[in-house]
Amino acid sequence: MPKTKQNICPECGTEVKDPYKTWELIAPFPDKKMRITMTIFGMYECPKCGKKFKGIVSKAKLGAEGIEI
Ligand SMILES: [Zn+2]
Repeated sequence: MPKTKQNICPECGTEVKDPYKTWELIAPFPDKKMRITMTIFGMYECPKCGKKFKGIVSKAKLGAEGIEI
């Protein structure tokens, strides 16, 4: 499954490796397979221009069969 990269600075295009802050958001409703989607968001700070921006770090699906990332 291809991952969408969201850790690219919108100002200068620099890739920021790690977010300085992360938090999870859990979808209130399950999908068709009765799995809950958990999205991990992160706040990034560009080391080049100092721009702070928000992006999705990863998504995980929590279901009866375990965790699917
Ligand atoms: Zn930047």
